[in-house]
Amino acid sequence: MKIGFYPGSFDPITYGHLDIITRGAKLFDKLYIAISYNPNKKTVFTTEERIDLVKEAVSHIPNIEVIKSNQLTVNHCQALGATHILRGLRAVTDYDYEFQMTNFNTQINDKVDTVFLMTQGKYSFLSSSSVRELAGFKGDVSPFVPDNVKKAIDKKFNIQ
Ligand code: ADP
Repeated sequence: MKIGFYPGSFDPITYGHLDIITRGAKLFDKLYIAISYNPNKKTVFTTEERIDLVKEAVSHIPNIEVIKSNQLTVNHCQALGATHILRGLRAVTDYDYEFQMTNFNTQINDKVDTVFLMTQGKYSFLSSSSVRELAGFKGDVSPFVPDNVKKAIDKKFNIQ
């Protein structure tokens, strides 16, 4: 059984993440979505909220399990039997960071490899941080996030 592991903070999940998840789920028998959780890092949505929002957004995809993770990605992969980390690539600006992370991870554990899916052009400038910023100005986030996330954002940011 081929198992993949898609880590991220998903604060909140966007259509860009969903695109990577939908395509990634076809590459693996099982795909874990690992919501990173670090008590020292401030997020807009709590860990439980982020998990629930992702679960709802991917409920139509059967071979996915949403979990939280506060350990080293490669260690968590090994514990779950995942052979591949899945990452999405947007503009070239992602490249440096991903290149560094991939090589670092391989040095820690060379049994876990990383695969990348290139984002669709329409999502290449979409990030959770831009969605948060837009929400902070009470903008309409509906073009960028699924319905359940839009509702949660409107509630959190008091958007009518
Ligand atoms: P962000 O960088 O938006 O805070 P995460 O830390 O949750 O997102 O990132 C998790 C993974 O999703 C990373 O591999 C990141 O490159 C990818 N990703 C985020 N936004 C997009 C997008 N719009 N298109 C493709 N991949 C994306």
